Amino acid sequence: EAVANQIAAGEVVERPASVLKELVENSLDAGSTRIGVEVQGGGRRLIRVVDNGHGMEPDDMLLALERHATSKVLRAEDLVSVSTLGFRGEALPSVAAVSKLLMRSRTAQNEVGSELKVVGGSIREVKETGCPVGTLIEVKDLFHNTPARRKFLKSATTENSHLTQTMFRLALANPKVAFRFKSGSRQVFDLPATDDLKGRVAALLGRDTAARMVPLYEESGPLFITGLAGLPSLSRTGYDQVYTFVNGRYVRDKVLIHAVGQAYLGLFAERRRPVMVVHVRLDPALVDVNVHPAKTEVRFREANLVHDAFVQGIRRGLAQSQE
Ligand code: ADP
Ligand code: MG
Repeated sequence: EAVANQIAAGEVVERPASVLKELVENSLDAGSTRIGVEVQGGGRRLIRVVDNGHGMEPDDMLLALERHATSKVLRAEDLVSVSTLGFRGEALPSVAAVSKLLMRSRTAQNEVGSELKVVGGSIREVKETGCPVGTLIEVKDLFHNTPARRKFLKSATTENSHLTQTMFRLALANPKVAFRFKSGSRQVFDLPATDDLKGRVAALLGRDTAARMVPLYEESGPLFITGLAGLPSLSRTGYDQVYTFVNGRYVRDKVLIHAVGQAYLGLFAERRRPVMVVHVRLDPALVDVNVHPAKTEVRFREANLVHDAFVQGIRRGLAQSQE
């Protein structure tokens, strides 16, 4: 079991940023409206996520550490109807197998919370503790017991930029959630909850950037596309600031990327790319998010429809801005 968890960890927990993503997605699944994140040493020394979600009962905290114990996928058909971000029930056990993990949680039904310490996958301590409703998870010394994986980690600077990128994606995907992010001694951002994507974009990417983006709205059959697209004058030398989300998840999808290229065709100098924050919503039955454990790839059942609606949505948005 310990070995199985370490192997699974290789797939789910590629680097500190993947741990961070899994922890924050769990906080989002728990209905949190406020999430605080702190990382140290490129995430290797510390990743701490504190949320105000519904918390866990003590038994559920233990269960959360058993692989697949919490899997919401019972049959293959269920994969089409999953609405939470997590569904494999393997992130926490995987992280716990390769770190020193502390979990503290309380539900509104309980007066006191519980605290659990896990080292290299085995539970070392369970006790009651005073804490607010919600969950705190602290991951320390990532890969301390897996030297082979540790070797693949890049410099703290590189890991930090992955951590920051991950936080940007999560914050842009969930404007209604307040996020605070601290890296080392630096507060990277402190974002209030908002109903307005533009407000979140302004707080995160800057007011000047947000001011040079136009709203998108495209409806095509089962598909809704909303978001903000940068004017051609707002360009970058890569896809770093092309943020595309499908049903609330950040994805990097070749169909969408191709559509972006086509929509802006002729508007940019070679190799320049737009700044975009776009949410695509569609019936979960029409998109397979289960292509890769890290889940940034998806497979659309009707790729052409998605592609053409995306191109059209962007073009229409840009055209309206020029009127
Ligand atoms: P999954 O998200 O795929 O269900 P995880 O291993 O990521 O699996 O988490 C296991 C379980 O632990 C979750 O299903 C959830 O019940 C519980 N859990 C983890 N993090 C939190 C949290 N921040 N708040 C409430 N429950 C949590
Ligand atoms: Mg999860």
